[in-house]
Amino acid sequence: MDFSINEEQQELISLAETISKNEIAPRSLEIDKSGVMDEELLHTLKQSGMTQLSVPKEYGGAGLDLLTIAMIAEQLAKGCAGVATVCAANSLASFPILIAGNDEQKKSYFDCLNQGGMSCFALTEPGAGSDAGAVSCRARKVHGGYVLNGTKCFITNAPIADKITLFANTRESGGIRGLTVFLVDRNTPGISIGKEEDKMGIRASATSEIIFDNCFIPAFARIGREGMGFRLAMETLEKSRPVVGAISVGIAQAALENAIHYAHQRKQFGQMIASFEMVQQMIADMVTKTEAARALVYKACWMQMKGDKKAGLFSAMSKCFASDAAMEVTTTAVQVMGGNGYSRENPNEKYMRDAKIMQIYEGTNQVQRLVIANAAMY
Ligand SMILES: Cc1cc2nc3c(=O)[nH]c(=O)nc-3n(C[C@H](O)[C@H](O)[C@H](O)COP(=O)(O)OP(=O)(O)OC[C@H]3O[C@@H](n4cnc5c(N)ncnc54)[C@H](O)[C@@H]3O)c2cc1C
Repeated sequence: MDFSINEEQQELISLAETISKNEIAPRSLEIDKSGVMDEELLHTLKQSGMTQLSVPKEYGGAGLDLLTIAMIAEQLAKGCAGVATVCAANSLASFPILIAGNDEQKKSYFDCLNQGGMSCFALTEPGAGSDAGAVSCRARKVHGGYVLNGTKCFITNAPIADKITLFANTRESGGIRGLTVFLVDRNTPGISIGKEEDKMGIRASATSEIIFDNCFIPAFARIGREGMGFRLAMETLEKSRPVVGAISVGIAQAALENAIHYAHQRKQFGQMIASFEMVQQMIADMVTKTEAARALVYKACWMQMKGDKKAGLFSAMSKCFASDAAMEVTTTAVQVMGGNGYSRENPNEKYMRDAKIMQIYEGTNQVQRLVIANAAMY
């Protein structure tokens, strides 16, 4: 395995680290309280290229590979997983276009991101979560294009998106074989943003419904062929799950460092709690789980990059293992800090809330275990 990165990539990772430390982390508790990311921070992320991580070189981007994108996501997540999610959602929405879009579609989409535009990946519906094949948002073929009707829910970045990578069904009877992807402009008549979720964690990222009401889109908005949507959704999630793993590692690393720092400050029974063996045991488990998760995430990225036939298995394992590790590490970090860990004045309880979503979005960890068992056993 080769995890080496070039100078240009290292520069971007270091830039992400600096932004995370100086711009994101100091604001993270305030953003968590208000549930709104400030415009100035979003502007910084756009200006520094953090919202354009997936743009290929030929479309004016940095042309980063998946491993570099994951390493950047980890750095951003150390400051705030919600902010990292906002940036990662642009990459998630890019993948179907990268895989099956034509040159014009790529140009229109990546130009938008390069100019500071945002995007979202709209698959989930009230009746279609883990069962993505149950999508009922309808794309009815008409002269010159399609008419969209339906509701998407839990869509990251929906309230700030300029472009929507939409999964809709071109068959009246529904089902996997009708699932089709469209690249839709947010300002198309007939689109409105519905209820915004008041979430437990990753509160820097806005999540909401998108409603399509007799919305006409031209035929050239379709990505790939009709009925290709399910395959594109699966290929996209396979590429992007290691990034969720990387965000999980970033959260775990931040919680770990905070807990170690605290253990060296806090005195009980006349000595630093860091000197108690049971505290050391908690720290040892946290370090081990975080490092193991990071190694699996890197390997999953590497397998994707070389197109290994087991890439899907490693992608699912990295997301599942790293998010479970983040949940355990953040919960233990609260324990190391005792009552102070439970206080909202301290980021550790936020890390714990942020870690929870990593086990749910982009396919729950139960669904990942189905993928893993299936790939390992058959
Ligand atoms: C904050 C947030 C952001 C999100 N962002 C996006 C986004 O940008 N785009 C998007 O399209 N979606 C997004 N989602 C949706 C997310 O991907 C779904 O919530 C997730 O896939 C699970 O679907 P569900 O919530 O309908 O749960 P359900 O599918 O109803 O699952 C409920 C429970 O049943 C279990 N379960 C379901 N099926 C099986 C099975 N076959 N075997 C075993 N157990 C099973 C699940 O593991 C879970 O424990 C987001 C969700 C949240 C909360």
